[in-house]
Amino acid sequence: MTFKQAKIVTLILILLAVALCVVGLAGFEKGSATRDQLGYIAAGAFAVGLVVMFLWCKCPHCGRRIFRGALLAVKCPGCGKALDPKYAKRLGEKK
Ligand SMILES: [Zn+2]
Repeated sequence: MTFKQAKIVTLILILLAVALCVVGLAGFEKGSATRDQLGYIAAGAFAVGLVVMFLWCKCPHCGRRIFRGALLAVKCPGCGKALDPKYAKRLGEKK
C-alpha cells in the first residue's frame, strides 16, 4: 500500500467511525443493542484505521512513520522528500 492509499484508507475508516458514533448516539436510545453494536463497529473501524496508519503511513524514501499531520503532509518531515510523486515536481525534486 502506498502512502497515498494508506492516507485515504485511514481517513475513510476514521470518518466511518465518527459517522457510526454520531448515528449511534443520535439515532438510538441509551442501552439499545443497536447503539452498542454501532459503538463496537466504530471502535473496530477506528482501530483498523490506526493499524493502517501505523503500518503504511510512512515515507517511501526513508521509511519514517508519519502520524502527526499525515493527512495533509506532502513532504517527509525527516528527509524532506515528496511523499507523493505528484508533488515531487512542485517541490523541485528530480527523479
Ligand atoms: Zn523521508
